[in-house]
Amino acid sequence: GLPELPARPIAMRRTSRRIQVGTVAVGGDAPVSVQSMTTTRTSDIGATLQQIAELTASGCQIVRVACPTQDDADALATIARKSQIPVIADIHFQPKYVFAAIDAGCAAVRVNPGNIKQFDDKVKEIAKAASATGTPIRIGVNAGSLDARLLKKYGRATPEALVESALWEASLFEEHGFRDIKISVKHNDPVVMVGAYRQLAAACDYPLHLGVTEAGPAFQGTIKSAVAFGALLSEGIGDTIRVSLSAPPAEEVKVGIQILESLNLRQRRLEIVSCPSCGRAQVDVYKLADQVTAGLEGMEVPLRVAVMGCVVNGPGEAREADLGVASGNGKGQIFVKGEVIKTVPESRIVETLIEEAMKIAESMEDA
Ligand code: SF4
Repeated sequence: GLPELPARPIAMRRTSRRIQVGTVAVGGDAPVSVQSMTTTRTSDIGATLQQIAELTASGCQIVRVACPTQDDADALATIARKSQIPVIADIHFQPKYVFAAIDAGCAAVRVNPGNIKQFDDKVKEIAKAASATGTPIRIGVNAGSLDARLLKKYGRATPEALVESALWEASLFEEHGFRDIKISVKHNDPVVMVGAYRQLAAACDYPLHLGVTEAGPAFQGTIKSAVAFGALLSEGIGDTIRVSLSAPPAEEVKVGIQILESLNLRQRRLEIVSCPSCGRAQVDVYKLADQVTAGLEGMEVPLRVAVMGCVVNGPGEAREADLGVASGNGKGQIFVKGEVIKTVPESRIVETLIEEAMKIAESMEDA
């Protein structure tokens, strides 16, 4: 059987200062939050709010919107007011949109030190406006837009270069007494990214926004992000995460939540313990696992459901889970909390598991 997983987080959290992104605390002992970014034109208020509603429903806690034009900046106030979750305006190149976003009531503003040459003289005013409204700033460094000076100094976007860029920008804000900051140092290579965040974590106490930038299509991006976030979060590094996928943003949220659940940084919800199948299997395990997963999707109560192909590990795993099936001889033994409650023909395994799961969920909700 699988070893019992401890129902506690994987590591001591790094000590970071706590900031407030609208209603969501980031850093300190606040739970690690999941964020994403809209793909609509921000100026299309209806479409953007619609996508934010979908993201909220998928569990997204903070949403970022791009702001490349004046029309986008003009849309921010309505979006920030009507969104169910805090909205961060993502600003490159144009300092005037930073002020617009602060005025619009955005929960935070992201600036990129590599793309904001003109920002340096504006930092004092930005710090003043952001302090007055309690708006935090994310300093978001990206390998693809590293400050030209640092690119020259280091030759490429090394961890040192990414960290130096971020800390330089932070120091400009600190000069004006502004410390309401979180930082990201993203790279598309998980190895470089992990190195950068480790250095950054050691060098400051700002909360950190984790991201593997341009991680790729869903499969590759999911793995790169899971590996990199897993490495960092297992060392206690990371306060909010964004999975970047070339896929709809709700997918990013699903992956982000699953990463946190896997590390016990968040209460696990539905968990399917299913075997890989092998030459001993007496049932189509893949099909059964898919059907059970689909049938139980959306269940909010934590539930561990074992779907096992034969009697070798089947009964053991099924007994360890809240609910399970061990198949054999065209039948399924259904276990609830370690007891065989019935044996059903193969054709009735899925519906029986779903029925029993509903009963358990109801009793948990009543409790
Ligand atoms: Fe193979 Fe049975 Fe183990 Fe599944 S439970 S992998 S079918 S031995």
